[in-house]
Amino acid sequence: MARVRLLGAQFVTSAASAGDLPRSPLPELAFAGRSNVGKSSLINALAGRTLARTSAAPGKTRLANFYEIRPDKHKAFHLVDMPGYGYARGAPEGAVFETLAREYFFGGQQAHDVRGAIAGVFLLVDARHPGLEADVRAHAWFTAQPPPVCLVATKVDKLSRNDRQRTSRALADAFGQAALMTSASTGEGIEDLWTWIVQHLQQWTPPAR
Ligand code: GDP
Repeated sequence: MARVRLLGAQFVTSAASAGDLPRSPLPELAFAGRSNVGKSSLINALAGRTLARTSAAPGKTRLANFYEIRPDKHKAFHLVDMPGYGYARGAPEGAVFETLAREYFFGGQQAHDVRGAIAGVFLLVDARHPGLEADVRAHAWFTAQPPPVCLVATKVDKLSRNDRQRTSRALADAFGQAALMTSASTGEGIEDLWTWIVQHLQQWTPPAR
């Protein structure tokens, strides 16, 4: 795919709880991953400008930051930046993340209906650490929900050529799906991300009201 040109990309709102989630007709693409995985860098690489971290009110974001992205030839969408989850094994942080993810996906209700706006989820994992327990757990949670999940390996510029092949295989083994190999530093894989985005925006149908 040719590079996607953007007409606009801007911060919309920070949601601290389900009550703050915007009610908008735009489809949403959510970004999740461990703290420090490179989520802000990848979001900024996609937007072609510094979006993440600059506009969000620190401390307020318990649930998610919303950015409106307007590509010139495709549907506008909300890019949803979810809070990073922690490192420790079997940590309560993992459970906290699941609580937040559930709140976003199901609007804080016990409801079974998933938020209809969600057109897809990007789960980011550090290419240097394939198959971490916290990532496998988050992936299992996301893939149990209806929206499609794209597994994204970040920081692949840090891998040698040999390591890349090994890492691709290790990721496929650990998660049961192939990962898109990306680098916010070199721009590698950003067009593949756009291809996934455009395809899933096209497949998304607005929820019945
Ligand atoms: P976040 O906490 O997930 O939002 O992670 P950041 O985007 O803030 O990145 C965490 C650290 O990883 C920063 O020091 C970034 O410069 C570095 N980083 C992010 N993406 C890349 C990448 O593609 N390649 C390399 N080499 N470093 C990266």
